[in-house]
Amino acid sequence: MPKPYVSAIAEQFGNWQNHIMLMLVDAATLYYRAFHAVPASLVDAAGRPNNAIRGFVDGLRILRDAVRPDTIVACWDEDWRPQWRVDLLPSYKAQRAAQGDETPEALAPQVPVIADICRALGIPVVGAPAMEADDVAAALAFEAREAVAVVSGDRDLTQLVDDAAGRRLLYLGTGIGKHTVYDEALVRATYGVGPQQYADLACLRGDPSDGIPGATGIGAKTAALYLNVFGDLEGVLAAAAHATPPISKAKAEVLLGQSEVLRATQQVVTLRPASVSIPSTPAQPDTAAALAAEFGWQSALQRWQA
Ligand code: MN
Ligand code: MN
Repeated sequence: MPKPYVSAIAEQFGNWQNHIMLMLVDAATLYYRAFHAVPASLVDAAGRPNNAIRGFVDGLRILRDAVRPDTIVACWDEDWRPQWRVDLLPSYKAQRAAQGDETPEALAPQVPVIADICRALGIPVVGAPAMEADDVAAALAFEAREAVAVVSGDRDLTQLVDDAAGRRLLYLGTGIGKHTVYDEALVRATYGVGPQQYADLACLRGDPSDGIPGATGIGAKTAALYLNVFGDLEGVLAAAAHATPPISKAKAEVLLGQSEVLRATQQVVTLRPASVSIPSTPAQPDTAAALAAEFGWQSALQRWQA
């Protein structure tokens, strides 16, 4: 991946603050992007695909060089679709589960190798049973005392943006070259609500990619309008009870009729800080070299160490 990405990301962070203490990387975002961006024809000496491995290490290096954090943590999806979320909302990620596309066959064996590689490079891998990387990132972000960069292609993590606490989201689009650094102003400009209202916005507006239904007939603009007037989902539902303008009688009926599922959805969408800590993970150059030889990413390792 060419150098300009590094300077482009670095510039946005440089404009914000010179020192980032902690960079929380949603590992799944990075290995999926890598898997789709790097040709599937790339294999190791044993003929096993290693495109996600190579792309992951290169992507992580670009992020490291651009953001220059004291610490990088790989936040891991130990469960990408926790049962407790499905129990609250059966449609949660149901479509993706049915398609079985969550871990493509060629990617699946590369994922545990990527975890081993992270640890060998001195990057702690943090996950928790029945929790998504989203919830791991939330826990570590809320605990941090200094500036945090959250790196993800998952918009749910918009909830973590907080100017006063020094937390920003480096949102990765389809490739690492397509990135956006979200602060509170940009969250507001993009969604029409602040980061703390993002979960309620998603509940009301819906999020088809995650199987979040939303309130029938209420789109992003209307949802943002209601949240700006009434503060949060509970405020909107309370106002709906009296059809307080700008909530029309028809929309009030919809909101009241669906209040139960909306409240359940809110629990699903809201990040739930996992119980985690960051394990001490000293870099193990010999292990990294051995993994590089075994899985054929020596040049990516050289670039990492350069
Ligand atoms: Mn996620
Ligand atoms: Mn998510």
